[in-house]
Amino acid sequence: MTFDCQETKRHVHEFLHNELSEAEIKEVTAHLANCDSCETDYDLEHFVNNSIQDACSEVPPQELAEKVLANIRSMQAGIDHA
Ligand SMILES: [Zn+2]
Repeated sequence: MTFDCQETKRHVHEFLHNELSEAEIKEVTAHLANCDSCETDYDLEHFVNNSIQDACSEVPPQELAEKVLANIRSMQAGIDHA
């Protein structure tokens, strides 16, 4: 059994969350090594994954949301005053 692009992209999420069997990991890894399109998908998901994990380990989601909102408000205030 060999994964095609559709199948690989479907498994990238599980792959990053260590939810695949050993055989599936082999298929995904083999496909990623030979396919730029799926590798880009993997990189993107990997990046988003890491960003979320970093943010979550530092501040609780509620606090993070408020921080982001405060940043947006101060940015908008800055634009208004300019
Ligand atoms: Zn592919």
